[in-house]
Parts: sequence; C-alpha cells; structure tokens
Amino acid sequence: MNNRRSQLVLLGAGLGHLQVLRDWSQRLHKGVELTVITPSPQPTYSPGLSAWVNGECQASDINIALEPWIKACGARWIQDRCIGLDVHARTIQLRNEPERLLHFDWLSINTGSSMGLQQLEDLLPGAKGRVLPVRPVEQFMDYWARALETAKQRRMAVGVIGAGAAGVELALALKRRLSDVKAQASVSLIAGDEHWLAAPGSRARRLAERALQQAHIQVLHQKCTQVGDGELCLDNGMRLACDLPIVTTGSMAPPWLRNSGLALDAHGYVAVNAHQQSTSHLRVFALGDVATRVDRPHAKNAAYALHAGQQHAQTLWAAIQGLDLKPIPTPRRLLQFMNTSDGRATVQWGDSCINAGWVLRWKRSRDEAQLAALRHTAEALPPPSTAVD
Ligand SMILES: Cc1cc2nc3c(=O)[nH]c(=O)nc-3n(C[C@H](O)[C@H](O)[C@H](O)COP(=O)(O)OP(=O)(O)OC[C@H]3O[C@@H](n4cnc5c(N)ncnc54)[C@H](O)[C@@H]3O)c2cc1C
Repeated sequence: MNNRRSQLVLLGAGLGHLQVLRDWSQRLHKGVELTVITPSPQPTYSPGLSAWVNGECQASDINIALEPWIKACGARWIQDRCIGLDVHARTIQLRNEPERLLHFDWLSINTGSSMGLQQLEDLLPGAKGRVLPVRPVEQFMDYWARALETAKQRRMAVGVIGAGAAGVELALALKRRLSDVKAQASVSLIAGDEHWLAAPGSRARRLAERALQQAHIQVLHQKCTQVGDGELCLDNGMRLACDLPIVTTGSMAPPWLRNSGLALDAHGYVAVNAHQQSTSHLRVFALGDVATRVDRPHAKNAAYALHAGQQHAQTLWAAIQGLDLKPIPTPRRLLQFMNTSDGRATVQWGDSCINAGWVLRWKRSRDEAQLAALRHTAEALPPPSTAVD
C-alpha cells in the first residue's frame, strides 16, 4: 500500500495563497504535505503601497508575516524563488539550489507578474542597473526608503515611467512624501502617449489630471526609449534629466513559464479555466496576475486576485480528493480605488468615478479589513478536531 502523502506546492505567497494558508490552517488536511515557496518572509499588500510611500502608514501596516501561517498549517517554507518549471516531470527549479529539483504532485502558482531586469532591459535599453522597478515590491520599498534620505540632502529629479493606475498613484504618493520632507525634488510622469490611464476626456482621466496638476507633477505624453546616466531619452528626441527613474510599466509573465510545458495565453501568462486550473494540466492551478481566465478574461489587479483566492483552498482540496470542482464566478466589475495622496481617493466603477475624502476613508477601512483577514491571529489557530483525512 502506498502511504506517501500528496505533495502540494504553493508557488508564491500572493494574495490568493495567503487566503489558502488561512483556510488550510482552519481545516488541516492530513493526507497532504504542503510546501510554500516564496522569497519574502513578509509579503506586501500592494494596494496599501501608496499609503506607505506618501507617509500615511508604516511598512509594518502593509506587510503580512508568513511564518505564523506556515506553522499553523504545518507546512514547509522554502525561502526561495522559482527559476524553472517542468510540468511533465512535475519539478520546480529554485534559484538558491538550481541543481536540486523539487517534486510536486499538485501545484498552485500565485507569483504575480514579473519585472525581470533582462525583461526591462529589452523594453528600455539602458535600464539595467539604472532604474528602480516597482516590482518586486519589497525591493522597491527598500530602495525608496534610501532614496528618500538622499532626496533630503540634495536636489532630485524623479521620473515615473508608465501612467497606468499604479504609475499615477505612485507619482502622486512620491510627490506628497517629497514635499512633506521638504525635499527639493521634481516628479515627472512619462505617460507613453495620449491614452494613459483612461480615455482622454473621461471622468477618471479628468480627475487624475486635476490631482497631478495640483501636485505639480509634469505629465509627458511621450514614450521613454532609452535610459542613460542621469537622463531619460524620449521618442520625440527630448532628454529629460532624471536622477531616479521608477518603472511601473512593463509587467510581464514570469520568464520561467515559457518552457514549462503549460498552456499559456498570448502574453505568456498561465491559461486557466473557471476553476483557476491550467487548461493543459489538471494538477496545476494558477491565480492572481500570473493567470488568465480564458473563459472570462479580466483585468489583472489585487481585487481580482483576492476574489480568485476566496475558495481556492476548497478547490485544491477537492481536486486532490478527485471531487467535482465548483467554478469561481468572476464579478462583472469590481470597484477600483486610487489614493490621490491629497487626503482623498478615487473610486471607479465602469464609466463612473468619484474623488473625495470619504472615498479615502472607505478605501482605508476596506484595506484594513482585508489585511486583518490575511493576518494571522491567535484565534485563527485551528482546534485539533478540525483536522480531516
Ligand atoms: C504600486 C502598485 C499599486 C497597486 N495598487 C493597486 C490597487 O490599489 N488596487 C488593486 O486592485 N491593485 C493594485 N495593484 C496591482 C496589484 O498589486 C496586483 O494586481 C496584485 O498584487 C496581484 O496579486 P497576486 O496575488 O497575483 O501577486 P502578488 O501580490 O504580486 O504576490 C506575488 C508573490 O509571489 C512572490 N514571488 C514572485 N516571484 C516568485 C517566484 N519566482 N518564486 C516564488 N515566489 C515568487 C512575491 O514575492 C510575492 O510575495 C497595484 C500594483 C502596484 C505595483
């Protein structure tokens, strides 16, 4: 008789897997050996990042300690990064020990999107070693804390490359913080073209333009084509002085997915069905930014990542037991919040958009509730009777 326990590997501690750990700890599954692979002991809740950048909160307010969850689940934690995946051989290659391949029976991927240095260099020649990418978020936080100290001592020109929701929110947060510490600093937003954030003339766009203007942030409708020492080259020939180029654009699929054998979408993300299950490999699941629901593609953001994680623990357990899986409904629309770092926030749903102080309070209370649900507390420890075979 084979008594070997099934090996379930959670790759990445994104917003979905944190919920899996929470749910798993409340209902331990004895027949499964759980392994978590993720580099950071304290994954960051990224919707709160701008509140940390602008000084509204501390880093500890947006980090989630992983270890208590690992202990509560009786899981094994490998503090490392995946650099290779072979779904036919069912093995994972890790950065710190590339020669040792880790076996899995079941795999769930929640590593977010990637901003690898080589990927950035291909996108923006000269970027390697000169730009600060916003991902990995933990690394960004470390660098920004140091850059802020430098900005207190000498003039600094900051350039934020990419004007999606993350770029606009971050530019506003950086400017607010730099002003609060009385730094002699300018912030420019390199938007790429006229169609940044939302359609020109739309309410979301007008509100963002107003906030940027009031914060004295220069918006350039050009593309950055190259990064040089202390400058950015733009596609109209302009050279913009820049001491700290921050890249928020260019999130891509992790490069190690390319030769994994998994079915991928046109952009290289894991193609999954309504159960967040790979369309090519039934023992592999993916959720959050790294996955694309082929039945109902949707935006890649924290709101969807959190939503997909809600019943993922049950899905994994049902799959391992050979039970029917319940499809995960995708909400048509989710509210999108943006902290404008002026005591207000914007909330957008469909074509409607409001920017107000009460929206910031609403966003804060939602973020706090979400963080509380993802954080381990003593009460979250499972009573022994809840262990199931
Ligand atoms: C500045 C900024 C602001 C944002 N603001 C908002 C917002 O207000 N609202 C919103 O909805 N969305 C926001 N987003 C988008 C949001 O952050 C992402 O959509 C969301 O975090 C995706 O969640 P996830 O679970 O897929 O992965 P993530 O939260 O990215 O977590 C991935 C985890 O996997 C780990 N990991 C990465 N690579 C590997 C690897 N190779 N091996 C092992 N582990 C790995 C990482 O360390 C991390 O812990 C923002 C993004 C940024 C950058």
